[in-house]
Amino acid sequence: MSIMIYADKIDLYSELINAGNILREAFGGDILGIVIGENNVKSIDRIRKIGLSKIITFSANELNEFNPVLYAETIKNTLEEFDVRYVLMNSSYKNKILSGLLSSFMNSALVVDVIRLNVEDNKLLAERPVYSGKASAKEEINADKAILLIKSGVFTPMTEEKTEAEIIEKLIDTSKVSLELLEFSPKVVEEGVKLDEADVVVGGGRGLRKKEDLKLLKELASILGGAWGVTRPLAADYGWAPEWIGISGASINPKLYIATGISGQPQHTSGIRGSKVIVAINMDSEAPIFKFADYGIVGDLYQIIPKLIEKLKEIKEG
Ligand SMILES: Cc1cc2nc3c(=O)[nH]c(=O)nc-3n(C[C@H](O)[C@H](O)[C@H](O)COP(=O)(O)OP(=O)(O)OC[C@H]3O[C@@H](n4cnc5c(N)ncnc54)[C@H](O)[C@@H]3O)c2cc1C
Repeated sequence: MSIMIYADKIDLYSELINAGNILREAFGGDILGIVIGENNVKSIDRIRKIGLSKIITFSANELNEFNPVLYAETIKNTLEEFDVRYVLMNSSYKNKILSGLLSSFMNSALVVDVIRLNVEDNKLLAERPVYSGKASAKEEINADKAILLIKSGVFTPMTEEKTEAEIIEKLIDTSKVSLELLEFSPKVVEEGVKLDEADVVVGGGRGLRKKEDLKLLKELASILGGAWGVTRPLAADYGWAPEWIGISGASINPKLYIATGISGQPQHTSGIRGSKVIVAINMDSEAPIFKFADYGIVGDLYQIIPKLIEKLKEIKEG
């Protein structure tokens, strides 16, 4: 029996291994990594010593861009050979598509957005947020096989150096796959730190009066070496940004999240739960965001952000 880990970002294998260790301690077996696509395969040195017994790599040209059918076929081909019972992935939108296909191939259980994993009386239990994060559901997995999509930031990355993994290079016959990728149009994201990778995120909501005022967020984010983001209305309704933070957008896991002019509706806050420290700036002292915030400033963002920028500049300039 083995446990397989697949992540769409190389750095997330070191978080998923700690989820895998829970399963290994309870059910035994090896933890394998599967790495797909040339760029990821080039970076496998970063995950060679995190505790994976084997790393299976696939680096055909056709695998360089995400193709759910081809990726699902690729993973499926290894399941029997390595007697895989559990597949662990990071919970991203790509992996939600991939895992749906894969679970139909495997005839397995599938739980997404897992925030806690444990085994009680030999039963595997996975907990995940429901109702936009207002409650959590604990689900018992009775199926023989399961795919679990783990939210990023739930498990701390493995830092200890373990025995080096054996690398197994595999080939896949891509000609038999029924779905062909005709065009790939990546989302246009401004230069700078990516939202889902940033240590600091400055978020803006409808408290901002016009698109030009986003410069306040951008400047504060830039001084702090972080990224900026918005709530859904600013992106989806006003078109001020290509993406938004929240349940239907990006989930963020920064060390610091500064929410400005954001009321704190559950659809937004479910995407910021991974933040270590939350600071809220809002004119309304009753705004729900203050219930989530570690620190709160009641006041006008148009006065507070420039002052913060000024102070931070002073500190930086020594
Ligand atoms: C199916 C569905 C999915 C959704 N998914 C998401 C999602 O993923 N992400 C998301 O963000 N939303 C999502 N929403 C929308 C969500 O319900 C809220 O409408 C949205 O988050 C509110 O955005 P906001 O906080 O920017 O605006 P508002 O709720 O209007 O809040 C604005 C806040 O700014 C404050 N303010 C005003 N002026 C100032 C000022 N000068 N200084 C300081 N504070 C000020 C106000 O006091 C207020 O609290 C979704 C909705 C639906 C129905």
